[in-house]
Amino acid sequence: MKVPFYGHVKQYQNIKAEIDANIQRVLMSGEYVQGPMLKQFEAEFAKYSGTKFAIGLGNGTDAIWMALMALGIGPGDEVITHPNTFFATAEAIWIAGATAVFVDCCPKTKCIDPAKIEAAITPKTKAIIPVHLYGQCADMPAIKKIADKHKLKLIEDNAQAIDANGGSFRIGELSDAATTSFIIQKNLGTFGDSGALVTNNADIDARVRQLRNHGSNKRNVHSFGFNSRLDDIHAGILSAKLKHITEWSDLRRKWAARYTAGLKGAKNFTLPYQVPGYRHVFHLYAIETKKTEQRDAMVKFLVDNGIDAKTHYSIAIHKQEGYPWGKGARIVGSVANAEHNAATCVSLPMFPELTAEEVDYVIAKSLEWDKAQK
Ligand SMILES: *Cc1c(COP(=O)(O)O)cnc(C)c1O
Repeated sequence: MKVPFYGHVKQYQNIKAEIDANIQRVLMSGEYVQGPMLKQFEAEFAKYSGTKFAIGLGNGTDAIWMALMALGIGPGDEVITHPNTFFATAEAIWIAGATAVFVDCCPKTKCIDPAKIEAAITPKTKAIIPVHLYGQCADMPAIKKIADKHKLKLIEDNAQAIDANGGSFRIGELSDAATTSFIIQKNLGTFGDSGALVTNNADIDARVRQLRNHGSNKRNVHSFGFNSRLDDIHAGILSAKLKHITEWSDLRRKWAARYTAGLKGAKNFTLPYQVPGYRHVFHLYAIETKKTEQRDAMVKFLVDNGIDAKTHYSIAIHKQEGYPWGKGARIVGSVANAEHNAATCVSLPMFPELTAEEVDYVIAKSLEWDKAQK
């Protein structure tokens, strides 16, 4: 049996008529950039997010650095995040001209550990960027308390957790802005690149709208800016898909529960931790092998058996080439949990269109590998 890592084509086939109708609408409208479909999707996405504003952008990385720039954060400023995330979180801090400061993650959730943040705060610190890693919210109430106490801005990197919540809080509710990515492999993804920023702050909304459009909110009048817009054709695709996001997240949660029930006896890897009361939407079903040297062996065993297992993310950001990128990025304290995560992570196939047979096959092969370990 072959089990792929994504179900993009299956998902398209399931709602082809809805997507095709929206694409046709855009093509026949004659307006393709900042046209009516983008406006419609932005309104739908703001409503869905429970925020006052949503701004469609070219990708999720731009959304992060534009949030920083809109908040006046740049050269000389420090931004705290954690090193076991996708590279773009740190890259965006770097693009904004600010300095990334890394603290450790929680050993269980893999999201930033609020208890590690205060030790990293200096007079230069301006913001914290928690990442809702793998589809589960970071501990926003605890992080918000620290941000308020030290007058820091808060930007949520929500590339991986659309439709998640923390039970008592929603994404975008406790921060200055939440950014997201709609690249195809994310839980809400279009057939290409794009992203968005949501906020309740009218100032940030106005500045990011200007930044994405060559610094212009009025024809022929420009301040500093960039070109990073969400194309109307992608807005149409996303508008069709947004109607299904809850149903897709529920399916991800169903497959995650099946994995967890099937794998719970394993001795050589640990399963994802779910914070009680949080809605985890399993962007990834990421397990960790007990020993570092088991990671690549387990991935190879699964791949050899037709299962497209991957690793997210096998090199922590502070171990990437060129670090600290000439801007003095640094680590504060031990980041042993983040390094352990990088060294032991294995992502099993996870997408809404999986079948019970596929999930059971992955479970069977994972247990077979587990039993073969000494
Ligand atoms: C995907 C991702 C991004 C970047 O999104 P792009 O649209 O690829 O620029 C940023 N942060 C995290 C955590 C991501 O997973």
